[in-house]
Amino acid sequence: MPRVQVVPLLELKTETRDRLFTAIEQQTTWPAELMLLPFDPQYAYDVAREQYHSSQLLLGLKNKSDLNDDKILAIVPFDLFIPILTFVFGEAHLNGPCAIVSIYRLRPEFYGLPPAPGLVVERLVKECIHELGHTFGLRHCKNMGCVLNASTYVEEIDLKTHEFCEDCRGALLQTGSSLIQ
Ligand SMILES: [Zn+2]
Ligand SMILES: [Zn+2]
Repeated sequence: MPRVQVVPLLELKTETRDRLFTAIEQQTTWPAELMLLPFDPQYAYDVAREQYHSSQLLLGLKNKSDLNDDKILAIVPFDLFIPILTFVFGEAHLNGPCAIVSIYRLRPEFYGLPPAPGLVVERLVKECIHELGHTFGLRHCKNMGCVLNASTYVEEIDLKTHEFCEDCRGALLQTGSSLIQ
């Protein structure tokens, strides 16, 4: 059975990992598994922008891994961008193998606010399920509250849940036929 292989390029606390894995398994029905992949992201660093090019990282992850039908979800501590945007919280291959999420702008400290570890975990879980949804072929959803609702600002992440809405769940079961295994 295919799995979601979670590749953290930062230290994930056990509680965070448990919370994330449970959410992945509940939402996608695929088992989640920790994978320690030796992966140096430096090639994707843009000196002028002081950020990492997320599309290049996705390609690197895809080439580096032995995927079969598995999905790879990388979680990184640094800031991500794609050329047309100032930053991205994450990116994924639509109906493809790889997703990446950055924790950099999920921390309140980035906005000059006091730390809130519990809030960061919830934001991280939402962004991970969101990007994984794209790897299963789902696009953005207009339903408020759906995890696939697009978020430009961190406050918008807080307004949605970590769950797929009924429409997306139905589409997920159709597009990802291997989901039902
Ligand atoms: Zn998205
Ligand atoms: Zn939806």
